[in-house]
Amino acid sequence: MSDYSFDTLQIHAGAEPDPATGARQVPIYQTTAYVFKDAAHAARLFGLQEVGYIYSRLTNPTVSALAARIAALEGGAGAVCCSSGHAAQIMALFPLMGPGLNIVASTRLYGGTITQFSQTIKRFGWSCTFVDFDDPAAIEAAVNEDTRAIFCESISNPAGYLTDLPAVAAVANKVGLPLIVDNTLASPYLCRPIEHGATLVVHSATKYLTGNGTVTGGAVIDSGKFDWSASGKFPSLSEPEPAYHGLAFHKALGPMAFTFHSIAVGLRDLGMTMNPQGAHYTLMGIETLSLRMEKHVANAKAVAEWLEADPRIDFVTYGGLASSPWAKRAARLYPKGSGALFTVAVKGGYDACVKLVNNLKLFSHVANLGDARSLIIHSASTTHSQLTEEQQIKAGAGPNVVRLSIGIENAADLIADLDQALTAATA
Ligand SMILES: *Cc1c(COP(=O)(O)O)cnc(C)c1O
Repeated sequence: MSDYSFDTLQIHAGAEPDPATGARQVPIYQTTAYVFKDAAHAARLFGLQEVGYIYSRLTNPTVSALAARIAALEGGAGAVCCSSGHAAQIMALFPLMGPGLNIVASTRLYGGTITQFSQTIKRFGWSCTFVDFDDPAAIEAAVNEDTRAIFCESISNPAGYLTDLPAVAAVANKVGLPLIVDNTLASPYLCRPIEHGATLVVHSATKYLTGNGTVTGGAVIDSGKFDWSASGKFPSLSEPEPAYHGLAFHKALGPMAFTFHSIAVGLRDLGMTMNPQGAHYTLMGIETLSLRMEKHVANAKAVAEWLEADPRIDFVTYGGLASSPWAKRAARLYPKGSGALFTVAVKGGYDACVKLVNNLKLFSHVANLGDARSLIIHSASTTHSQLTEEQQIKAGAGPNVVRLSIGIENAADLIADLDQALTAATA
C-alpha cells in the first residue's frame, strides 16, 4: 500500500472492504467490546501474543482504519488516534517522561500548547524550556541530562512561521533525543516531518485532517526509526514495563514499540481515546486532504498578496509571500505551500480590528482554524486578552493584529468581504 501516491493513500490506506459485510466505506463500529472466541483467545489478546480487539478504550476497527491511514500519509511505522490534539501531545510525551524530566520546545507554538507545557505538565513533575528554534546552538544549550524530547511545530500558529526542520533534527540527532513535530498546520500534504528527521509527529485532527470543523481529535505517529534502547533514557520502552506484564516493548516489538506502548499502556491508563463517530468524520474528511490543501494554499496566497498591497494594512506575516523572511525556507522545505494561517496588522489598531471582525460577512469570528470556511480571530480581545500589551506583541498577537484561517471558498469573494469590512473599519 505504501508504494501508492498521496492522493491514493488518502482514500485507500487502512481500509479494506469490511470483512463481515463487504461494505466499501469503513463502517462505524459503534461497540464497546468484542466477543472472544474462547478463553485461550482472550488470554492471548491480553498477553499481546495475538493482535485483536478487546475493548474500545484500547482499539476499535473504525479508529484503527484512521490510525493506519494517518500513519501511511505521514510515512510512519504506526499511529495512535486520540481524543484531541492536546491529548495527542500528552500521549506522545507519556512513554518518554517521568518526574523531574524535561523537554525543550520552540517559543513559537499554539497558545494552548504553551499553557500545557509551561503550566499543566508541572503537575506530572515534567517541565519545559522554551527557546528560539531559529538558533540551533540555543536548542543544544537548553538540553541537559534530564531532557527527553525536543518539540516544535512545522508551520506554527499564529503567524505562519516556518520551522527549519532539518536543522532542528540535526540537533536532536546530535544529542540523541527524539524530535516531536506538531504537523497540524501543514498537514502531511504540505510537510512530512519524518522525511526531515522527526521521530514522532502529532496532529490536531480537529483542523485540516478532518477539514470541516466537525470533530475534536488527534493522533501520534511514530517513525519507527528511533533506537529507544541505546541511551538507557527511555526505560518504559527499553526495559521490562511493570505496567504491562514486564514486557520489554522495544525488544519485543521493534519499530512498533512506541505505538503498542501507546495503546497497551497509554490509552489503557490515560483513556484519551478517539471515539468511532469522530474517526468516521475524520476518515471522510481526509479523503479530500490534498485537494483541500491545494485550494487553501492558493486562496491564502491570493488573499495575503491582496492584503499586503492594500494601504489600510501595515503588514502580513504569511510565509508564502515573496517578501516573507521565510521565503527561501518556504521554497526549500515547503514547496507545495506555506499553509493557510497568518496574521495581518490593520492600521487603526485595536478599534479597527474589532470593527473589521464585526463587519465581515463570510469570515466567522471563532477560535478554530483549518476549517473549509474562512475564519478570523482578534486575539487581543479574546484568546490573549489576559496578557499585557507587551506579552501580546511578543506572542504575535498585538492589539493591531488579527489572525486569518483561509478556507476553500472563492478567493475573490473572500477578498471582496475583507475589502468592504476594511472600508467600514477604517472609515
Ligand atoms: C488546535 C491545535 C492544537 C490542539 O488541538 P485540539 O484538537 O484543539 O486539542 C495543537 N496544536 C496546534 C498547532 C493546533 O492548531
